[in-house]
Amino acid sequence: MQPSVIIIGGGLAGLAAAQALAPRGFRVTLLESRNRLGGRASSFNDSATGQLVDTCQHVSMGCCTNLAHFSKTIGIAHLIEPQPCLFFMTPDRRVSRFRADNWPAPLHLLRSFASAHYLGIGEKMRAAWGLVQLQRHTSDDDPPFADWLARNHQTPRLVDRFWGLVLVSALNETPDRIGLRYARKVFVDGFMTHPRGFEVEVPSVPLGRLYGDELTAWLGTHQVDLQLQRGVKELHVEAERVTALELRQGETLAADWYLAAAPFDRLLDLLPAAVIDQHACFGNLRQLETSPITSVHVWFDRNATELPHIVLIDGVGQWVFNRGETSAGEWYLQVVVSAARQFHGLGHDEVERQVITELRRLFPRLQAARLLRARVVTEHAATFSAVPGVDRWRPAQATPIANLFLAGDWTRTGWPATMEGAVRSGYLAAEALLTRAGRPEKLVQPDL
Ligand SMILES: Cc1cc2nc3c(=O)[nH]c(=O)nc-3n(C[C@H](O)[C@H](O)[C@H](O)COP(=O)(O)OP(=O)(O)OC[C@H]3O[C@@H](n4cnc5c(N)ncnc54)[C@H](O)[C@@H]3O)c2cc1C
Repeated sequence: MQPSVIIIGGGLAGLAAAQALAPRGFRVTLLESRNRLGGRASSFNDSATGQLVDTCQHVSMGCCTNLAHFSKTIGIAHLIEPQPCLFFMTPDRRVSRFRADNWPAPLHLLRSFASAHYLGIGEKMRAAWGLVQLQRHTSDDDPPFADWLARNHQTPRLVDRFWGLVLVSALNETPDRIGLRYARKVFVDGFMTHPRGFEVEVPSVPLGRLYGDELTAWLGTHQVDLQLQRGVKELHVEAERVTALELRQGETLAADWYLAAAPFDRLLDLLPAAVIDQHACFGNLRQLETSPITSVHVWFDRNATELPHIVLIDGVGQWVFNRGETSAGEWYLQVVVSAARQFHGLGHDEVERQVITELRRLFPRLQAARLLRARVVTEHAATFSAVPGVDRWRPAQATPIANLFLAGDWTRTGWPATMEGAVRSGYLAAEALLTRAGRPEKLVQPDL
């Protein structure tokens, strides 16, 4: 008889666990409360055109080896396009291009960095010295990164234009709230270890399509029992084992193994209070803080720029994605604002006004362009915050409950809250389950 596992949550963490366990002889049931897969990496239907539009553009990097493995396995890797060149723009519209040379890491970006127009020569030398110190810092401690920057003579302008520029997008947090460990990971793993590590990868289709038909077909081929709109209400736990789970519809399901891949605040709703009180790994989740992301979607009657994307320096947002002509005469731009606390308390009209004013100023073609429509989407708890010492609150994938495992970008993966972190967590949870089932196997993919 095949062992059975119920996975709760069809985000990337739950999907990665299903992708790992289904071909390894497990009868997998995947329960997702919404009517679609992908979790936070999702799209909505634009009511004006019926087209799928991403809630927020998601990008990954060359160093995301587990996400790449997941995409390749389920057959969607061809829908993701590497961007070998990054474009950085200052308010005066000047653009610097970032592209790797054929030199060994970390020298591959040296020429681009040296020619960046938005930093002076002295600043570049100071930043380079900071990078070397960061790479040399091998201890696992996690003090406030802002203190580390000050100790290492990085000026406020460098914090804004260099360190913060990268970190706000990568960690969805401002440098004053970030710990050293994940700041170091972003710079060292992303930019200094491998020439391909920094390469940004952008899906060529909406996320709803990316985690849509191909993925569902793959799950079907591997006999995963996918049940959408089946939210779990609670887990029944007796003598340190999950005995069953109850769906919101009232039905009860049971399996040999359970893998919870819902967001951490949801997990706290599913577990009995006594279990949370008894085991610190669950109670600690209450310490995790979150950070918002706002995306502003705008459609103009003409193309703003030929550039595929732009990283904004000293801008309202951090990234502009140019999705081109998405329907006849409609040109779609998406502006992503990470750690978007500055919008707290502002109405959508004001957020839209600030972003559109900036776009018209940066792209002269938009000055006389007609704005066809706009939409502002804010995810208030987009990701957990990589504050100093955050890992002490993140649980391992194996829990003290014998047949319960956890997955989610918030579990202890060694990665910040990203799609790569989510997929890693799914593989780590599957590894932990296989170990407890007496069949240990390594599933996590090696780094670049
Ligand atoms: C606006 C935004 C922009 C982002 N941009 C990027 C980016 O550019 N690059 C990047 O790498 N990462 C990005 N991220 C982070 C990335 O989306 C997440 O790290 C990743 O998708 C998390 O996956 P997950 O499976 O851990 O969680 P989720 O995606 O949250 O999945 C959890 C799933 O569980 C389901 N669920 C919840 N409760 C229940 C229940 N009771 N029963 C059944 N199912 C349940 C939910 O519906 C959901 O589908 C972004 C996130 C946001 C919000």
